[in-house]
Amino acid sequence: MSAGRYAPSPSGDLHLGNLRTAILAWLFARASGRELLLRYEDVDTSRTVPGSAERQRADLEALGVTFDRAAIFQSHRRQIYDDAVGQLTARDLVYECFCTRREIQDAPRAPHAPPGAYPGTCRELTAQQLRRRRTERPPALRLRAGTAQASVQDSLLGVLTAAVDDFVLVRNDGVAAYNLAVVVDDQLTGVDQVVRADDLADSAPRQDYLRELLYREEAAAVDYAHVPLVVTQQGRRLAKRDGAVTLAELAERGVSPDRVRDALLESLNLPAGPLENVLEVFDPAALPREPWVWEPSR
Ligand code: GLU
Repeated sequence: MSAGRYAPSPSGDLHLGNLRTAILAWLFARASGRELLLRYEDVDTSRTVPGSAERQRADLEALGVTFDRAAIFQSHRRQIYDDAVGQLTARDLVYECFCTRREIQDAPRAPHAPPGAYPGTCRELTAQQLRRRRTERPPALRLRAGTAQASVQDSLLGVLTAAVDDFVLVRNDGVAAYNLAVVVDDQLTGVDQVVRADDLADSAPRQDYLRELLYREEAAAVDYAHVPLVVTQQGRRLAKRDGAVTLAELAERGVSPDRVRDALLESLNLPAGPLENVLEVFDPAALPREPWVWEPSR
């Protein structure tokens, strides 16, 4: 069965921005007859806060954001990511990169190279250079990308075009990089709908490119919807430090989960009430396209 997913990092309680995106992921999935999966993006276990996965799930369920199947934890899936890298390595699509952040910043690059794109420094190291550099620091693994950009169709943003550089697949501490883990997990769990905050929109073309490389045969097209963020009055992405922004903090001020749900629905021009009822009137085309500015006094 095809599915959507919600994929938080269990690094603390979810805030209103996260919760609003989760409500949308639920509405998009259910409105299109899909399951909704919960996936914890915890490849970087140093950022995991104990107990936060359970709290996140409880908060989501308190709003009516329910999930199908058991949640998956990326930290348990290292072998699966390694296998995917193995497939790419066998096709000579992976190379070792020893660059530090600083080296990447300072490297000469082509005049029209997109900002932040990897300049290709380690792409063609000789066997001798490789031997020397391996004694200096452990390598990250990069994809040998065969294109400079790619496009995907987004149901809210239209055609999304972004750079596809030789992005990192495995960090130099052996941990799968975000793009690799997302593509492998989405594909292997039947996810064909990705609803997430629009600050990740630029990742979609990279991920789609990698998905085609890895799963050419079986890759079903993915429906993308990158939804507007919740921002502060200063226009900054909402963060946990911005006052009472989690369900627990709001509950302390006497604001119930139902009221939070209704305020989030209102911010999406949707009627208040249990999410099942909202489904009947949910129309992606009518969603606001601007960020929602959160006012602490609400
Ligand atoms: N883990 C990411 C986040 O919490 C979401 C990644 C994704 O949906 O692809 O923002």
